[in-house]
Formats: sequence, structure tokens, C-alpha cells
Amino acid sequence: MNHRGAARLRAGHPWVYRSDLVPPAEAADGSLVQVRDERGRRLGSALYSSASQIAIRLLSTDEISDNALPVLVRERINQAVQVRQCLTRDTDSFRVIFSEADLLPGLIVDKYNDILAVQAVTQALDREDLRQIVVESLTAHFPGASLIERIDPHIRELEQLPPRESRLLLGDRSSTIFALNGVQFHFDGLSGQKTGAFLDQRENYAAAARYAHGAALDVFTYQGGFALHLARVCASVAGVDASRPALEIAEQNEQLNRAQHGCSEIEWIEANAFDLLKDYATAGRQYDTIVLDPPAFAKTKRTVPTALRGYKELNLRALKMLRPGGILVSCSCSFHVSEAEFVGMLGAAAADTGRQVRILEKRGAAMDHPVLLNVPETAYLKCVICQTEP
Ligand code: SAH
Repeated sequence: MNHRGAARLRAGHPWVYRSDLVPPAEAADGSLVQVRDERGRRLGSALYSSASQIAIRLLSTDEISDNALPVLVRERINQAVQVRQCLTRDTDSFRVIFSEADLLPGLIVDKYNDILAVQAVTQALDREDLRQIVVESLTAHFPGASLIERIDPHIRELEQLPPRESRLLLGDRSSTIFALNGVQFHFDGLSGQKTGAFLDQRENYAAAARYAHGAALDVFTYQGGFALHLARVCASVAGVDASRPALEIAEQNEQLNRAQHGCSEIEWIEANAFDLLKDYATAGRQYDTIVLDPPAFAKTKRTVPTALRGYKELNLRALKMLRPGGILVSCSCSFHVSEAEFVGMLGAAAADTGRQVRILEKRGAAMDHPVLLNVPETAYLKCVICQTEP
């Protein structure tokens, strides 16, 4: 590979783009390849994709043989599971394996109570031999758990993998009920409208509930993640989302929890968040707690300025609607928007309101989503909790 690719690997980032391969690689789809710099010096072993712009994902700076690959994958799975044992003491649901962050590029495994949802997002991890190792290792660690394979058709298309349906790989359950911080959720990995959760927000749900009070609004609620937590501590809660199917599951989740605990009733509102916040602000509505957790606005570096304008519009309206001492929980899962840019945007929005706003906490994804120092993509989630002046 060229100088740029080699420098990237030496700096600890495992990806090499196709444009940095010289000569262009001719390896088989998903194969293990040995990588060298332009002067022939060894850089390690990597998994190759013939389709993705990310042609190479480094596995090890050692040279690994094809025979040793299954052993290495098994070892890495063991390590990932072991690390979770101290990071996830009091939850039945967490991310067991997080791709690059667990040195297993292309493999994502989430645990929802007694079901493991496995996703292979690269040609290499889709290989039959590697799948088998993954299934074997996971069943050894989580005996009795059902395993389902979750498919993202778009990713399979990008990796030029044959289309597949989500399916049960092992066991007999594809749906269950799981808990995050004692709040219960439906999980169904196979039905039309898939359910599940943004497990990366688990600790942020608990943090938000520590400060939340009064009248609360959870914007971009999806299946009710924040709203259900807020209902335990707030006098009234409304959850907003543009997706009706998501709100239907949110409502089912609410019923599940209402049966168990006495929480406030939640109003589920199907609306475009931008329009709704504008209307509510104009109508002079006021809240004590607002959560903003939009989808990633910046999908590429180029769209960061537009994304920041979108974030600012939402956050400005939310801050304006907060009563004195009100809580704003503002999230962004756009990797391309840095924490500094995000906090800067919040500052600009606060300045426009003419009120002081203090940061209570700057947070990231839950601990079961490790961050690698040299792989900024692993630190994608920002969650800033602020309070308006009393
Ligand atoms: N807060 C949620 C996750 C939100 S994911 C949780 O903790 O589980 C982003 C959500 O935003 C999706 O449910 C999507 O349907 C919704 N969404 C996307 N664009 C929207 C818009 N313009 N207005 C309202 N909701 C929108």
C-alpha cells in the first residue's frame, strides 16, 4: 500500500482505503491478507473486502496464517465477553462485541436478555467458517441463549453480499422482553417491524432520569427509550417521532411498564420534530425537561455545516421552551460532528436565547461500546446534559 495507507496503520487506525492500495489488490472476497508498505516492510494481517471503500481492516500487527485466524477470532470474542463482565454488572442487555472497538472488525453482537443478535457487516465476517466460530463461541459463553442473525440489506448490498433475511441461527426464541435500568422493552428480531433498542444510550437514560423533572418532552423518541425512563420521575411526558410503527411499539413498551410500576402516562405524538418544535415554541409551550436524540444529521464530512444548522435549530427552540432551571439532554450520533463542534453549537444556541446555560454532564456511549483512542469513529455518540439558569 502507499505511504498514506501505511501511515494510517502505523498511527493505530485499522482501515486502509482502496485508493491507498498499490498495486490494486487481487485478493479473494473476505480473505485474510498480509499487508506491506511500499518498501515491502510488514505491517500485519488484515481482512479484505473487494466491495467496500474500506478495502483493508487490520486484524493484527503480527502475521497471522489462515490456520491461526479461527483461533484469533475465538480469542478476541473471549476478550470482548470478559471485558463486559466488569462493564455491565447490572443489566441483562448490552453490546457484547463492537466491531473495531473489540478488534473484531465487521462483527456486532448485541445481547437482549436471553437473545443474542449477531450482525456481520463485512465479507470476511460473513464467511461460513468464521460464522461458525462466532456461533460456537457465543453459545459457550451464553449457554441457553437463542441466536438470531440480523440483516441490514443496505450494508449487504454495499459489501456485495447476497441478500438474506434475518433468521434464527440457534435456539427457539426470536422475541423476548429485556430491561435497561429496570425499564422493560419488547425485543423482536424477526417480525416485520423489528424492535430493540439503542443500547448505546443505556447509561444516558439513567443519567437523564437523575435530573429530569416536571413536564418532559422526548423528541425523536423511537420506541420510547428516554420517555419511558422519564415517566418514572416526571409529572407528564410526551414522546415525539415521525415513525408511526416506532410509536406503536413505544406504546406497547409503556403498557409493559405500567403494569409493573406506577409511572406517568405518556402521550405519543406522531410528527416531524422540526415542525412540532416550531409550533410549540410559537404557541408558548413550556417544559422542565427536553430530550433531543435525532438521527445522524451528518453522514459525511461535507454535510457537517448543514448538520450543525439542523442541530442548532432544534436546540435553540428547545432551550427557549425550557423553564428556569430546566434540563436539556441533547444528543448527536453523527461521528463527523466532533464533541467540540457539538458543544460549540449548543453554546451558540444558548447565546441566542440570552440566558446562561450550564453543562451538567458531557457523556458518550455506554461503557459496553468501547472507544479506541486512535479510532475516532468509535467515539460517535455525544450526550450533553445542560441546565438553564434558575
Ligand atoms: N431516542 C431514541 C432513538 C432515536 S433514533 C432511543 O433512545 O431509543 C432517531 C429517531 O428519529 C427515529 O425513531 C426516527 O423515526 C426519528 N426521526 C427521524 N427524523 C425525524 C423527524 N424529522 N421528526 C421526528 N422524528 C424523526
